[in-house]
Amino acid sequence: MSDQARDILRTVFGFPSFRGEQEAIIDHVSDGGDALVLMPTGGGKSLCYQLPALIRPGTAVVASPLIALMKDQVAALRQMGVDAAFLNSSLTPSESYQIQRAVRESRIDLLYVAPERLLTEPFLELLDEIEIALFAIDEAHCVSQWGHDFRPEYLQLDQLKERYPGVPRIATTATADGPTRKDIVERLGLQEARRFVAGFDRPNIRYSVVLKNSPKQQLLSFIQGNHPGEAGIVYCLSRRSVDETASWLSEKGLRALPYHAGMGAVQRQRNQDIFQGQDGVIMVATIAFGMGIDKSNVRFVAHLDLPKSLESYYQETGRAGRDGLPANAWMAYGMADVVRIRAMLEASQAEDSHKRMEMQRLNTLLAYCETARCRRQVLLDYFGEDLPEKCGNCDTCLVPVETYDGSQEAQKALSCVYRTGQRFGAGYLIDVLRGTPNERIPRFGHDRLPTFGVGADLSKKEWSSLFRQMVAGGLLRVDLEGYGGLQLTAAAAPVLRGEEPFQARRDPSGRAASASKARPQATFEETPENQSLWEALRDLRLKLARRQNVPPYVIFHDTALAEMVSRRPQSLPEMLTITGVGQTKLDKYGEAFLQVLEEASEEQDQAESNTSKNLSISAGVL
Ligand code: ADP
Ligand code: ZN
Repeated sequence: MSDQARDILRTVFGFPSFRGEQEAIIDHVSDGGDALVLMPTGGGKSLCYQLPALIRPGTAVVASPLIALMKDQVAALRQMGVDAAFLNSSLTPSESYQIQRAVRESRIDLLYVAPERLLTEPFLELLDEIEIALFAIDEAHCVSQWGHDFRPEYLQLDQLKERYPGVPRIATTATADGPTRKDIVERLGLQEARRFVAGFDRPNIRYSVVLKNSPKQQLLSFIQGNHPGEAGIVYCLSRRSVDETASWLSEKGLRALPYHAGMGAVQRQRNQDIFQGQDGVIMVATIAFGMGIDKSNVRFVAHLDLPKSLESYYQETGRAGRDGLPANAWMAYGMADVVRIRAMLEASQAEDSHKRMEMQRLNTLLAYCETARCRRQVLLDYFGEDLPEKCGNCDTCLVPVETYDGSQEAQKALSCVYRTGQRFGAGYLIDVLRGTPNERIPRFGHDRLPTFGVGADLSKKEWSSLFRQMVAGGLLRVDLEGYGGLQLTAAAAPVLRGEEPFQARRDPSGRAASASKARPQATFEETPENQSLWEALRDLRLKLARRQNVPPYVIFHDTALAEMVSRRPQSLPEMLTITGVGQTKLDKYGEAFLQVLEEASEEQDQAESNTSKNLSISAGVL
């Protein structure tokens, strides 16, 4: 079995070896076993069902929620010579009929369908007629109401188990905390399935969080400084800020497009196609965008507003750097975001238990923002994984955050909150603490409080940071039923009484911004010759892609092109050893790419002999 799998891996997919748990999963499913696969985005989940689909007799049926994703996955498989197809509402009746006929005639190895179609009676009848290799349920977290992407039609997928008892089922997802995992197992009837939980670490992603002051300008400097001309995603909370940010970036000369649910479906699809199919486009989007984005060379994901939870944050940032090359996850955050999200949660119609859970999730996220620890350690902790060493590739590792014992400051602040009646916001409280003249203070008699002016030694900025940290740390909460004043929580009492310390972090000054400076490097040496070869290979790829109307990366990933630049294959057999070059792609494109490589090396020889000629001439003159 394993030999056959390895053989297909090399000849069809063009990969030299399996990654992580892929081999174990593929063996298990090819043998007829059920599996639940948790792997981070970019971990290589698709291979876990695509390869068994080719090993097992019959047609593999893949339930996948997104039409755009199906189209690209199928295009990518066809490039490798795999008989793949999809059935969804984007097809004409006659196209759809052709594919069903091909399925009936056993000419399709992998069939992608939307879950709502999969469960229609006509489709199930079609399945009754054929041999089914396996069922794959992609984005399986959609079955859970806890997840961020619940889709009711997923609930019906439990029928598959009853109706096709002998057919192995594999459910895959990149995102599932405890409750979501439990839901997947229960609702899809996967109690017997073997679980594969792959490492969640994405070492090539550099995480950083900056304090928000002028968000658009900060974003612009981040992009210009780190990612000129590269593809990225910018997430904003509201449609309005999506539109504003996209047009602002465009005014500054960047290629930025908006994406949100308030736009027409046609325009939205068009922007998504441009992002997916062209190089160097920035997508400014609400979270409506992204699930199933299969673009491997997204170089950065930026959050201008807080995501909903640490879980969504990890999922959203996971769209960066799927090709394994360096990428940045950058977030700007400030106190106002916290207040706004809390207010949205409070106002929602959800049940109390649900709200409480959401609040908890928000608090976990805030703790991440305010941490002085390695951010990767905090993230992996959350997913139940242990990273013993600091990662060295996040802002707090690169520019360590200074912490100090802020117990006294916290006591002053908390006591000020208490004595002013727990109804004022941070701005007013800071004025009282610093003894700043403010006409309201004497009106309330707060200039006579013992806390008046006790905090004059800290700046306004330092106090805001402390208040933010106390909210993030759960010592204070924002009263949203009243006027948004700060109130003490139960956790404040021991700090106030001096029984528990309060460890504070000093906001890094401008230094943090340069922490993410490291530009992602392709994996070849950056000489002018290499650079121009790289461009030539990309041009060829783009030309081939345009001709077939597919995104460039389904021809070859950036990583494959970079490997060609660094290793300079000179023959078809050498070309076959490049990661991502399988037999079909070799047959289709090998010659064309070899020719570009050959031209480049001729030019280089020419240039070198000119230089040596010049050298010998000057040597002669001397
Ligand atoms: P996921 O669905 O888990 O987000 P994909 O299945 O899209 O990830 O895989 C991510 C990338 O990794 C793809 O570009 C894929 O071609 C590549 N990949 C997957 N498995 C391997 C492997 N064994 N060797 C090299 N590249 C791989
Ligand atoms: Zn770190």
